[in-house]
Amino acid sequence: MLKINQLHKSYKIGDSSLHVLKGIDLSVEEGEMVAIMGSSGSGKSTLLNIIGMLDVADSGEYILDGLPIDNLTEKKAAVYRNKFLGFIFQSFNLINYKNALENVALPLYYQGLKRKKRQELGMFHLDKVGLADWAHHLPKELSGGQKQRVAIARALAANPKLLLADEPTGALDTTTSYEIMEFIQQLNDEGKTILMVTHEEDIANMCKRIVRLRDGVIMEDKAITQVRASQYV
Ligand code: ADP
Ligand code: MG
Repeated sequence: MLKINQLHKSYKIGDSSLHVLKGIDLSVEEGEMVAIMGSSGSGKSTLLNIIGMLDVADSGEYILDGLPIDNLTEKKAAVYRNKFLGFIFQSFNLINYKNALENVALPLYYQGLKRKKRQELGMFHLDKVGLADWAHHLPKELSGGQKQRVAIARALAANPKLLLADEPTGALDTTTSYEIMEFIQQLNDEGKTILMVTHEEDIANMCKRIVRLRDGVIMEDKAITQVRASQYV
């Protein structure tokens, strides 16, 4: 699904520069569910953003689904992003003035689907996350867990090959976190490849593989026995 070789990334801050990723090698196969761990500031989001083509590396090689991603124009990157990737964020990133259905249907607009088809598919995905009855509610009328479920439905609307999640449970209480993780595990059971960033050990243990970042490199990369979130829900 993706292959990264010797990826480097620095940020310029005034006259100095902060070397965040110092030669990352990572391969992810189709169907995997991988947690990227590391302390705050270790570069987890930076790595995920590069994988998600929201940012670019300074050097190294990145191949996504057989396509070399380095040196893509922003326009091409946007096309691949819409085609291959779904995103979930800690802060949900829903559009406040659009209702749940409109939020979910938005990626389909960028895919050029007609309004009726967007509404149909949007409802299908909202129903999948158990929120069909909330389709016409605004984000502010939803709980944190419901907002994240809308965000998951939106991430899945365009049927991405790879789902990227940056601290998807970071803003949720423990019970709601497990509910969201159960959901993400189900998606993986259905075959979706998932790459998520977390700094919580409990959450990482619900994945199938843990990659740990430290000092800009991967210090550990191992398969684990997955803990099922359903045990806790
Ligand atoms: P994590 O997600 O593991 O907490 P990040 O990838 O967000 O870490 O950040 C890694 C380091 O890079 C941190 O020291 C952070 O302050 C710095 N950083 C992140 N984004 C930027 C940016 N756009 N400009 C400058 N420094 C940044
Ligand atoms: Mg982060």
